[in-house]
Amino acid sequence: MKKQSAAKGPARAGGGHEFLPRTDVDAVLAALDETYPDAWCELVHQTPFELLVATILSAQCTDERVNIITARIFPTHNRPEHFAALTYEELEEMIRDCGLYRAKAKAIIDTSRILLEEYDGQVPRTREELVKLPGVGRKTANVVLSTAFGVPAIAVDTHVFRVANRIGLADAPDVNKTEEQLMAVIPESRWSKAHHQLIHHGRRICSARSPKCGQCPIEPYCRYAAEQREARAAAP
Ligand code: SF4
Repeated sequence: MKKQSAAKGPARAGGGHEFLPRTDVDAVLAALDETYPDAWCELVHQTPFELLVATILSAQCTDERVNIITARIFPTHNRPEHFAALTYEELEEMIRDCGLYRAKAKAIIDTSRILLEEYDGQVPRTREELVKLPGVGRKTANVVLSTAFGVPAIAVDTHVFRVANRIGLADAPDVNKTEEQLMAVIPESRWSKAHHQLIHHGRRICSARSPKCGQCPIEPYCRYAAEQREARAAAP
């Protein structure tokens, strides 16, 4: 992603990074609340384990595709013992229409076996334990923690990374730094909600290739939009 420089008189904080002024951050959060009041996880699930499986499947795959796959497999396979009893090849066949299906089949079966051996078949509730499971990185752990267990967390996926850095809620070169900066600028009580709202915004308006700035409720505060305005004004 091309790194954007700040615009619109941003405040400097945190070692030279450039963020929106506090009043603009609050305005952005209010606009997100107004536009996406019900934003929440779009992966269909009934239990923490189903969410864990769906989130592992969602890497480089759309939520819509994952929901089609899980609607097919969860009626018969939705507990660790179900997946632990499968061979890798059997599960590969069941999820073949998902990208990276071989790696995901292995991760789901290996994770299921660990859950049975070490956690009495339950999904652990700490980030430290979750990230030790095969196929579970920090983003997946944060999705499970916030959505299944109500632990405040911001999972930075490709949408959150792009949208947060365009707006100016973050000014970071990678997802870990973006998560850190978002946690600093967004009140903890809003972390989980804001995470889902930024994903919704990235999918519906602030797309990677052609952000619909003219239809965007955040446009008056957005650093990227301000730069676009300045560039147009400076054009001969
Ligand atoms: S104004 Fe444009 S770049 Fe900024 S958040 Fe909205 S769609 Fe994205």
